[in-house]
Amino acid sequence: MESKLSAAVGGKAAKAFADAFGYETVGDLLRHYPRSWIGRGETSDLSELQPGEHTTVIARIVSSGQHPYRDRRTGQMAYRLETVVEVGDAKLSLTFFDKKRHTADWRHNLLSPGTVGMFEGRADWDRYKKRWQLVHPQTDILEQADALTAGAVAEEERRKLNAVRAIYPATKKLSSWKIEGTVKIALENLDSVEDPVPDDVRRSRGLLDAHAALRALHRPDSWQDKTAALTSLRFQEAFVAQTILARNRAALAALPAHPRTGREGGLLDRFDARLPFDLTAGQREVGEQILDDLAAGHPMHRLLQGEVGSGKTVVALRAMLRVIDSGGQAALLAPTEVLAQQHARSLAAMLGDLAQGGMLGGADDGTRVALLTGSLGAAARKGAMLDAASGAAGIVVGTHALLEERVQFADLGLVVVDEQHRFGVEQRAALTAKAGEVPPHVLVMTATPIPRTVAMTVFGDLETSTLAELPAGRAPIQSSVVPLRYQPQWLDRAWERVREEVGKGHQVYVVCPRIGGDEKEPADGEEVPLAGVEEVAPLLSSGALHGLRVEMLHGRMPADHKDRVMRDFAAGEIDVLVSTTVIEVGVDVANATVMVILDAERFGVSQLHQLRGRVGRGGLPGLCLLVTRAEQETSAMERLSAVAATTDGFELSRVDLEQRREGDVLGSAQSGRRSGLRLLSVLRDEDVIVDAREAATEVVAADPDLATHPVLAAAVRRLDESEQADYLEKA
Ligand code: ADP
Ligand code: MG
Repeated sequence: MESKLSAAVGGKAAKAFADAFGYETVGDLLRHYPRSWIGRGETSDLSELQPGEHTTVIARIVSSGQHPYRDRRTGQMAYRLETVVEVGDAKLSLTFFDKKRHTADWRHNLLSPGTVGMFEGRADWDRYKKRWQLVHPQTDILEQADALTAGAVAEEERRKLNAVRAIYPATKKLSSWKIEGTVKIALENLDSVEDPVPDDVRRSRGLLDAHAALRALHRPDSWQDKTAALTSLRFQEAFVAQTILARNRAALAALPAHPRTGREGGLLDRFDARLPFDLTAGQREVGEQILDDLAAGHPMHRLLQGEVGSGKTVVALRAMLRVIDSGGQAALLAPTEVLAQQHARSLAAMLGDLAQGGMLGGADDGTRVALLTGSLGAAARKGAMLDAASGAAGIVVGTHALLEERVQFADLGLVVVDEQHRFGVEQRAALTAKAGEVPPHVLVMTATPIPRTVAMTVFGDLETSTLAELPAGRAPIQSSVVPLRYQPQWLDRAWERVREEVGKGHQVYVVCPRIGGDEKEPADGEEVPLAGVEEVAPLLSSGALHGLRVEMLHGRMPADHKDRVMRDFAAGEIDVLVSTTVIEVGVDVANATVMVILDAERFGVSQLHQLRGRVGRGGLPGLCLLVTRAEQETSAMERLSAVAATTDGFELSRVDLEQRREGDVLGSAQSGRRSGLRLLSVLRDEDVIVDAREAATEVVAADPDLATHPVLAAAVRRLDESEQADYLEKA
């Protein structure tokens, strides 16, 4: 597998693959997996074609007509062949150009009606005929019309007829055809393939070995063959990835950590005693779990997931207090400046005099909350850094500015990462490194429910806890779609609702997909530009919402200005906040009851769900209006209807995953060409992942260094290195 491609398939072919895909070895080529497989009678779905996409069809020719014409440039006669094939219910044009009479005639004859062929080329939409066309596609005749009537199908033809054939990701220069041919040669010359999956693991599951699986994947004799190959290779992928994660877990468990056991009558006890509400059962349970983790002699790595408003922050704060009670500090890492400020404020508010250590009126052994963000003035920044370094601040809240090298802690015992989906693993590692020799405990919080399999693959080194219930007394949020194409008058009604709500003393968010003010032309096919904060705000305050206090909030505003607007909104001095998604996470204004999201189809499901979580927080029923120009029966409209229909985050995350591409789910680090996950789908292959995880954990427990599994060790090293390389490329 590691031998040079040129030695196996010849210099010319090797060069073509090097140019097209950067391949160097036989293994590179054989890991160029088919995009799909096609058998006789199969049709690919034309309705999913994109202009310019390389496509392959197997289809029967229904008509073929030759059209001679004079080439304007050369003045010579030329011949255009218009062939129409039937693909399912749809028709597809194939257009060929020939300069020579005899080749044109030969082609006309070859592509006669009734003939079945496999055609591959770039799909273009023919506006006049209103159908897809392939211009000069690669052609492989599977069934000759006259040969068939004569009952004389050659042996090779017969093989082709019955075979399942691989369709490869191709380029203009390197067609699926050529790839298939080269792979065939490479497979014939391949003597052995080392298998990272130990024999007993493989046998007990009835899987093909790596060599047989590769052969069956590229050149299956039947559909069963192909399925067996996929099953085996998927397990192999999952197994190698899970081996890495199992080793990471084992390594973590072997690391030392300072046990943080707290003390009687400390900050945590006093905080609990004055909590204005009862913790939910989930908060208590997860809280106990975390206190146990913190008391252990190795670092906690826990993912806490829970709906927006499920009370994760309280859980995190209690963990922080336990650490402070044990002489340590906690850092809270937030994805945006607005959110960091908000966190600092609300933590300080929840703690009251417990957070005024060293200040007049503060509790005797109180601590302090410091805020450290990129936009702080020099003096404030210096103060915060001093408080972190001296230990005066038990809690340091910040954005990525916390990751800077100059930021030091006296004794960093706990890192809390809010809204994990915005933070990379690398950033987590950078903060962890600040704790010095002994790594800190880590708690990651997310409101985006992560399916079990994604948690196991992407966050495989984290234990998971879930807050399944919302605190009692939470009012429901009602959501509706406002379909502008069909019910334009509903928008007026929406602004009326906004007025009514403000009349009752409540507040409203209006969310836009862009900031605006940049005079950008509408993108192709969009008749109106998307709603922009800088256009919508003045329009509303001079029009539909005339007389109300309307303000803007977006990421291009100076930080102090943003902070002031947020504070004013929280204080009830702004009625309507027109903003971008800067308010998406964590912003907590209990008096806000309505959210109007403009061009809502521009946002993803989980984003809408997050946004909507900003209203209905104060025991007042919330209303969310999803305004859209999307058309009925589009996936955009489906998405919006799903969001309107349920507030169950797990249900929505399923909708989301179904609609999104895997690469997005896994994040860019996992989707690179070299990444280990090629055939495995974290959505579809839960069983495989669970099974592989168990197998890998057993193997690692018995042999942590993989000394008796050299092939597995090498595969693990390769995958580790390729992930490393992907990371370096991104940096
Ligand atoms: P999350 O971070 O999970 O979105 P928060 O921790 O911000 O949720 O909690 C949302 C709101 O609910 C906050 O105002 C918080 O004080 C309040 N809250 C948290 N836990 C409870 C509880 N057990 N009972 C009542 N209110 C709670
Ligand atoms: Mg929160």
